[in-house]
Amino acid sequence: MNNANDIPTAALEAFKESLSPQAKVITRADPGYQESIVRWADNAIKPAGLVVQVASAQDVSETVRFLTWFPVQIFISYLSIERENVGDVYSSSHTILNFTFQIKFAVARHIPLVVKCGGHSTNGHSSTNGGIVIDLHQLRDVAVDAERKLIVSGGGALWRDVDVAAAEKGLATDAPAEHSSNPNRNPCSLALVGGTVNHTGVGGLTLGGGYGFLSGQHGLTIDNLVEAEIVLADGSIHTIDENRMPDLFWAIRGAGNKFGCVTKVRLLAGRVVV
Ligand SMILES: Cc1cc2nc3c(=O)[nH]c(=O)nc-3n(C[C@H](O)[C@H](O)[C@H](O)COP(=O)(O)OP(=O)(O)OC[C@H]3O[C@@H](n4cnc5c(N)ncnc54)[C@H](O)[C@@H]3O)c2cc1C
Repeated sequence: MNNANDIPTAALEAFKESLSPQAKVITRADPGYQESIVRWADNAIKPAGLVVQVASAQDVSETVRFLTWFPVQIFISYLSIERENVGDVYSSSHTILNFTFQIKFAVARHIPLVVKCGGHSTNGHSSTNGGIVIDLHQLRDVAVDAERKLIVSGGGALWRDVDVAAAEKGLATDAPAEHSSNPNRNPCSLALVGGTVNHTGVGGLTLGGGYGFLSGQHGLTIDNLVEAEIVLADGSIHTIDENRMPDLFWAIRGAGNKFGCVTKVRLLAGRVVV
């Protein structure tokens, strides 16, 4: 099984139950499916088997755990069915079942899993043929601490979200005014190295390094990343920085986006002359 579309209904229902009420699981048969696989580049649109629109880091964790454990659940239910049906011959069939389980486990683990933030990957890295998409678009909260020059953004936010939140406090990212969703925004005295357009994702751009108009003065976006919340492949959730899991924190600042799913970033803003 390498297509999420083939996941048994009972397993899918149990998975939905494990998520927060705000999370949404979209199958190919559901309304909103076509919209959920749209990407910035048409060539990056692929028919996902399942789109999981998570609403928290815990939802991401449940999705990762589901992918790892549901083959085991299938195995356990097979065993109990076999016990009921064949009674005494259970032990001889156990070997065959065990073998079946191993194959199922190995194959099922190959269901592709991708993370989607702003959907601007032009080579389709946030899309999948038949796999599961963890769609972060609900993780868009942005908090601005003007005094400490810090901006905390959800891992699924667009730079537009950061820009609007910052502008409300008289601050801004470095997207030029013509790209801003707020034409009346205040002139900024504090700014952040974000993307040069405001519709790219905070998650993808940051983990890719991130350059903006302020890079000459303040470096890349990752140079200004001071903390991240990340969900690892085993489903564990960590807050990492220079002191907490420093190797992983080093890795996400320049070695790519495959170390985990980043659900929150804390970024440093800098003073600019306006
Ligand atoms: C029109 C346009 C303008 C651009 N301008 C700039 C620019 O000014 N500066 C710049 O540096 N780059 C720019 N880029 C490149 C852009 O930063 C990358 O394409 C980036 O990967 C897009 O991120 P996204 O979240 O929008 O895309 P997505 O397609 O959602 O994600 C891209 C990749 O990052 C992964 N990913 C996304 N979010 C997370 C997360 N939270 N945790 C783990 N993995 C994640 C995805 O799995 C995928 O592999 C631009 C691209 C386009 C198309």
